[in-house]
Amino acid sequence: SATIKAIESSTVRLEPIHQIQSGQVIVDLCSVAKELVENSIDAGATTIDVRFKNQGLDSIEVQDNGSGISSHNYESIALKHYTSKLASYDDLSELQTFGFRGEALSSLCALSRFAVVTCTQEDAPRATKLDFETSGKLKSTGVVSGQRGTTVIIEDLFRNLPVRRRELERNIKREWGKVINLLNQYACVQTGVKFTVSQQPTKGKRMILFSTKGNPTTRENIINVFGVKTMNALIGMDLKVELVPTAGPLNKGKARADGSATEVRVLGHVSRPTHGEGRQTPDRQMFYVNGRPCGLPQFAKVFNEVYRSYNASQSPFIFADIQLDTHLYDVNVSPDKRTILLHDQGQMLDNLRESLVELFETQDVTVPVSQV
Ligand code: ADP
Ligand code: MG
Repeated sequence: SATIKAIESSTVRLEPIHQIQSGQVIVDLCSVAKELVENSIDAGATTIDVRFKNQGLDSIEVQDNGSGISSHNYESIALKHYTSKLASYDDLSELQTFGFRGEALSSLCALSRFAVVTCTQEDAPRATKLDFETSGKLKSTGVVSGQRGTTVIIEDLFRNLPVRRRELERNIKREWGKVINLLNQYACVQTGVKFTVSQQPTKGKRMILFSTKGNPTTRENIINVFGVKTMNALIGMDLKVELVPTAGPLNKGKARADGSATEVRVLGHVSRPTHGEGRQTPDRQMFYVNGRPCGLPQFAKVFNEVYRSYNASQSPFIFADIQLDTHLYDVNVSPDKRTILLHDQGQMLDNLRESLVELFETQDVTVPVSQV
């Protein structure tokens, strides 16, 4: 029949389909940065170097000193749904690593000129450069010198999706702002990681935009990224928000088996209400769930409202990591994993509001610096 024929003829054009699907995983500069940086973190890197050329329009390179990729995996890393991080389906609920879908490298391969240089501890100082076909198939390997770690090189992003490419070029100013903001967020939250972000114009010298020093605390990271003046206007926060299990439909099967309360911690730094340094823009309001940067508009709203009841003329700097049990949220709801679904969010927000008021009321009792 005609329908079957249509399906048959579309299956011979696998490559365009792969491109379209890849375009749903890698939607912009931020997705590229996010996927590559998270892979480096997952690989246990303590240095992560993000290098842009022409604000990412020419190239994006992420170099790390993580585990490297062993040779038996060269063939598969850029194939769709290949991941070394998910041992069984059950793991999805207790996810520790950022990646788990095996879609990022395969998608980047389909959407750019893509290469990897990698080296494991055993192979150093012999690194291997891997080149791939757009399908994700390994095309060639070559020996280069290098230390333990992995460099992923992305050139000419969206070269085969002309509409997307034009869109990126047209909106590059905004996209650039967003990607730097996202990298700021990773740099601030990743303690023990030396994070460097640099940019080189098409013609001109490479400039370091910001870097952290492998600090043990987020406090020092924030000083590296935003300056000591910003830090001095902040107070440490370590709020404990108790969650009593409810019988709501979202909460079904999520509450603790024994019915006891679950603790959620909100850890970080927020502007002192009495000492502002001017109205903070949204890029100075950073939210995380278990160290994973994410937009939490409802949480931001509570912070801003409570803050303004103390200081009506300012909005606060916020660095807030919501630490909670993995059974209290889902990350695997969207292909780009940006959306996080928190169960029982209403109760969390109510309790957060109370704890924040308490923090601002007793703000001379600040959290010892060593804890945050
Ligand atoms: P995922 O992160 O979901 O596993 P990716 O497509 O991002 O999928 O990566 C595919 C695989 O390539 C990873 O599972 C990992 O084994 C390997 N890999 C990717 N980036 C790195 C890196 N920076 N260091 C070491 N291994 C990496
Ligand atoms: Mg990944």
